[in-house]
Order: sequence, then C-alpha cells, then structure tokens
Amino acid sequence: MFSEFVKKQYGRELENCTDRELYTALVHLTNEMASRKKQPEHAGRKKVYYISAEFLIGKLLSNNLINLGIYDEVKAELKQAGKKLGVLEEMEPEPSLGNGGLGRLAACFLDSIATLGLPGDGIGLNYHFGLFRQKFKKQLQKEKPNPWMEEDGWLIKGGKSYTVSFGKFDVKSTLYDILVTGYHNRTNTLHLFDVNSIDEAIVKEGIDFAKEDIEKNLTLFLYPDDSDEAGRLLRVYQQYFMVSNGAQLILQEAQERGSTLHDLHEYVAIQINDTHPSMIIPELVRLLMERGISIKEAMEITTKTCAYTNHTILSEALEKWPVSFIEQVAPQLVPIIRELDRFVKDTYEDERVFIIDENNLVHMAHMDIHFGHSVNGVAYLHTEILKNNELNPFYKIYPEKFNNKTNGITFRRWLLHCNKPLTKLLEKTIGEGFKTDADELEKLLLYKEDEAVLKKLLGIKAKNKHRLAKYLKRTQNISLNEHSIFDIQVKRLHEYKRQQLGCLYAIHKYLEIKDGRKPEFPVTVIFGAKAAPAYTIAKDIIHLILCLQELINNDEDVKPYLNVVMVENYNVTLAEKLIPACDISEQISLASKEASGTGNMKFMLNGAVTLGTEDGANVEIHELVGDENIYVFGEDSDTVIARYERGNYCSRHYYDKNKKLKRAVDFIVSKKLRKIGKKKSLTRLYNELLNKDWFMTFPDFDEYVAAKEKACRDYMDRQAWAKKMLVNIAKAGYFSSDRTIAQYNEDIWKLTQQD
Ligand SMILES: *Cc1c(COP(=O)(O)O)cnc(C)c1O
Repeated sequence: MFSEFVKKQYGRELENCTDRELYTALVHLTNEMASRKKQPEHAGRKKVYYISAEFLIGKLLSNNLINLGIYDEVKAELKQAGKKLGVLEEMEPEPSLGNGGLGRLAACFLDSIATLGLPGDGIGLNYHFGLFRQKFKKQLQKEKPNPWMEEDGWLIKGGKSYTVSFGKFDVKSTLYDILVTGYHNRTNTLHLFDVNSIDEAIVKEGIDFAKEDIEKNLTLFLYPDDSDEAGRLLRVYQQYFMVSNGAQLILQEAQERGSTLHDLHEYVAIQINDTHPSMIIPELVRLLMERGISIKEAMEITTKTCAYTNHTILSEALEKWPVSFIEQVAPQLVPIIRELDRFVKDTYEDERVFIIDENNLVHMAHMDIHFGHSVNGVAYLHTEILKNNELNPFYKIYPEKFNNKTNGITFRRWLLHCNKPLTKLLEKTIGEGFKTDADELEKLLLYKEDEAVLKKLLGIKAKNKHRLAKYLKRTQNISLNEHSIFDIQVKRLHEYKRQQLGCLYAIHKYLEIKDGRKPEFPVTVIFGAKAAPAYTIAKDIIHLILCLQELINNDEDVKPYLNVVMVENYNVTLAEKLIPACDISEQISLASKEASGTGNMKFMLNGAVTLGTEDGANVEIHELVGDENIYVFGEDSDTVIARYERGNYCSRHYYDKNKKLKRAVDFIVSKKLRKIGKKKSLTRLYNELLNKDWFMTFPDFDEYVAAKEKACRDYMDRQAWAKKMLVNIAKAGYFSSDRTIAQYNEDIWKLTQQD
C-alpha cells in the first residue's frame, strides 16, 4: 500500500528512494488517509472546542500510523525494501508547543475526543519555535531556539482568516490545521492561528528577541518568560490573538450548523484550559453584542457555553493582568470586563470574588468561575483543596459548578507506541480489548501468580532498559549501568516538584558509600528537566545535579553502586524512551502542590512502581494499587496546608536536629563540589534551603530516604517486584484519557456520539 503510494508520488520503488523522500511520503499518506476520516459538520450537532495556549503534541508520525491502523503494514513494507521505520521516525522534529503537563494533557485529550468519535477541535497558536532546546555547558543550562515547522510537514493551510483589532493596529490571521487522528475512528482538527508578518530573523543570542515589535513576534515563541514587562505584555497580546480568532471561528461554525447564537450553548461547548484563554469570555460577550444581542443575554449565553479547568493552586500561576495591559492590547474588552465586574460587585459582598481588585488587577480565574457553568480540578485531592481552601469563597456561592475530572493519558502513545513489547504481551495474555476499553487491563490480575507472565514482564523491562541505554549512548554519550535500578524523576524543574530532595538523597548515599557502607544493589538516579530561563533557583538545582553527576560518576569507589545522570532536553520523545525503562517512578512533590501529575500515570502504565507523596493523582494511584504496590512517604496535605497557615516553618530547625540531613545539605557547598561547579550558584541554593525551603523538603527527608531504601531492597526479590509491576499495569486503566474525556462529556459538554 505504501509502496504504491510512493510509486505514484515519485515514480520509483521504495528501495530507490532516500529516507527523506520516504519520510515526506509517509507524512503525505497519513494526512491523506486522515483527511478521509474527517466528518462533515452536521447541522444541529453540538461540538466542543478545547482552547489552550499549549498543545504538547510530540512527534506525530508513529502515533498517526497506529491510529490509522497501518503501522505494522508500513513497517513491514519498509523492512522488505531494506529501510527502517525507526530511522524515518527520527527525522521528524518534535513540535514542543507546550511547557509540560498542561500542554501534554491537551494533546492527550484531542486524541481521546477523536477516539471516542466525538466532534471536538483544539484551538491554539502556531508558535514558530516551541519550548527551547536545552543544552548543558559547564554544568549549566543553555537555551536554544527549537524550530519544528517543515516545508512538507504536518501543517495544512486552514483557509480561514480573521481580523483581530489590537489597541494600536489590526492584524489578519492565518489559520493552520493539524489533523488529529482518532484510534480507528474519526479525524478532528487542531486549529493553530498565526500571522504572516512573523520575522524569525529577529532572534538574537539564544532565545532572546526584541519583545516590542508585536507584528514580528506575536507567534514567534511559545509564551516567553514573563520576568520583564515587555514579556508579560506580549503574553497578553498572544492570549487575545488566540481567543479573538477562536471566538470568531466558533461563532462562524455555530451559525453554519444552524445556531441563531441565542441558542449557542446547544451548538457549542468551550473548555478553557487554565486561565491563558480566559479572555474568550469577554470577547464572546463583545462579539455577541456586535451581532445584536443585549449584554445581559450575551452574559447568559457565554456562561452556558464556557467551562473552566483549573490546573494549579500555586498563587503565582493564577494570572492577574493590570487593567492597563488590557487597555493597551484590547481596549474594546475593558468596558465589557468592567460590566462583568460591576455585575459581580452588585451581587456579592465578598471582595475575594471580585474580578477587578483594588489594585486594578483583573483576576482571570474569577471571570471564568462567575461566567462559566463548570469549574473542575484535575484530581480528587486537588478539587477538594479548591473547594475547601483556594476557591472556597466561590464554592460557597456556586457549589453546583464545582466538579472533579481526574487527568488521564492516551494509551495509544503511552503504551501502544512507546512500549511495543509490553503491548504484545498484553495482547497475548488478555486480548486486544484494553486498547479501547482500558479497564480490561484488570484482566491481567488473573496472572499475578503466573510465573511465566511475571518473568516476561521482567524480561520486557530489561529490554527497555537496554534500549534506553543504547539510545542515550548514541545520542548523548551517556553510559548507563543497565543492571542497576533505574530510579527516574523527569518533569519540569520546579521547587515544588522537589528535585532538590532527590539531590539530597544522592548526596546522602554518596557519603554513606564513601564511609564504606556499600548498598546491596546499584542504583542509577536519572533526572530530566528544563528550567524556565528566568527561574534562578531552578537553574541552581540543575547545576547541582550536573555537578553531582560529574563527581559521582568519576569516583571509582562510588560508581559501581551509585550513578547520577541528567539527560539533556527532556521532551516527549525522550519521555517515550525513558518511561518504559523505569523501575522506580519518582513523584515526590510537596503534598498539596502537584494538582494531578500525568507523568505518574505514564510510569505506572509501563510497569514502574511509584515512590511518592500523597499528592495529586498519587493519592488515587495509592488507592488503586494498595499499600503493597507503592512507596508512600511524607507529610500529608492537611499538615502542609496547616503549616503554611501558621506561617512558622523553619527549615533550620530540622537541619539542626538531623545529622544526616545536615551533612547532605552542607555538602552542597563543600570543596569537592565547588571545585566542579560555581560557588555562587551552589551557595545560593544552600542558603535558599537553609533559610527558606519554601517547599519543605527537610521535614520529609528521613521518610524519603527510608522509603527509597525499602524500594531498593524489595527490588532484589525479582518475582515479588514483578507482581508489583503487574498490579500497577493492571490498575492503570482508570488513568486512560478516554475515561477522563467520557466524564467531561457526560458532566460538562453533553455531546452526542457520532451517528
Ligand atoms: C507527561 C509529561 C510531563 C508532565 O509530567 P509531570 O510529571 O506530570 O509533571 C511533562 N513533560 C513531558 C515531556 C511529558 O511527557
């Protein structure tokens, strides 16, 4: 089939084509087949629009081949011609159009919406450069531009264009579409808006660029760091550009399906992914008024149409924009926002629920909650914290709006694609049903005492570890001890995620080994993380990890027992290689701070055992697998929240009374490390921990070390460990994004399944 396609395209046989030609032909073939599965817009049918500043879609080729059901066939045809699909896969640049979990969630959701046969498109921005490419130089992170668009790539001209009016000028948008294939089901669309005037030549050193010339840089980068005024303002420009285009497209399509706009909510559901797209609320009100609807009715229509997902309780992440910013970017929105605020102030007395506060800051989330019909958190614990703490004043007003939707991941990418050996074993053992009904994974529990199956699970893990070792050797010149425990923490670098706690463990272990206390089994502690370019302490933590890697891996006494590895440029592509190879999944955020996590779910599905705090979806993982099959440690969220409320946390107090902890912390500024690294950076991190430790690593240190020691001991009983792996895989079905999306649809969107 592919060979015929190639023959038509190039007039040649597969074996006479270059890899580049074959790669391009595969993109064309996939797009052609996917287009045929697009559904016509049905009159009267309701459709969901998932609007998000980020879609961390990752490479698309293999995933699309799997979803279209042609992966094996294409692979076999290539093989016959002496070609390798794996080589073609590596040619694809990764579209990193997101920062981390929130953007990856949006991508998983698009897959599941299409897989469930639901009409639903994504709306976002066509960033020319995705999240920066990370380089390490002298134990420091350097940021490089990360281009991903190709002449003959995934983007298809969308054919629509709208005018967006900013304060001082208008721009005309260009729409690009990426086809979203469902697994053996319909094709939906990811709409990415762009402008033609973008000038990639204005990028200077690293990822610096002139932030003032909006027409040249509007969609140049995935939202840039917001450490300076110009960067923050550009972010508001990006947001308004996204929502204005989105709202115009939504209204146009709804009218084409037969809506009078008075009945918009019967034709459209809009899911607002965090507060970045929140301006779609006043923009919809404005556009409806332009089309002859009164403000009162426009507010009601908007409320019935929009729903908001909250992703974080970190206060610095809840966006608040000065009215003056919005005045500059989109002055036409200001009177609308003032009207919305007036309505709130006339109705409620509690200042905490006002949209515009006394400092003239617009609280984006507040707008979403008042003028949307649904507010959801992303894991059970997170939603409870929203209701009882963070958003309690709103919960008291609108208890009916609050609901939980525990996050999920698409099993097509995070199992079928990234772990083919495990997929094969599952097919043979429990049949194919789990691919579309993830709960069927539970059938695996019947094999918990089956030695042959347990042995195969261990064999698959060993194979995946070998594959990772080979890959990291080839691409990053990193050597891994394949026969050690792979203990992995990969995620964005943030103090709340507590990579620094992992560092303290590594130091503690290093010092113990130096003292002659050799562990019974070797461990490799693997980190992967990007730090925001302006986040100093996060960069200091990366520096510490890289210094530890240098020190420990060159110490002949230590390296047979302990290795520290930091992989460069952690992204979706690397995640797909790391996760299937993992033994211990590190999910060690400070309880109450990680809204859900989705990395934790990917690891569990691939047979890693979680070492984690009672935070985010870890709580649900714990409940599903039981005490035997997870390592839980640390203070619980109530204790942590109460301590923040008292405001009397003193890290030095823990440091003074815990000798092991003190020794590990002091080592950060030891001669040995200072010889490798930068004194300024190491000292800054040391002082931060000793004088602040805002995310409370010290109180959890002892329990963390103990839990990890126990996990490493348990690992040595290979059969008992294999049972834990099996239970984790079997219970992971709950975390399929198909389940999450079915719940969004049932409770919030209320779309009808495909005819
Ligand atoms: C899944 C994923 C994340 C989210 O990981 P968490 O551990 O939930 O923070 C971040 N980055 C990439 C590349 C991912 O695939």
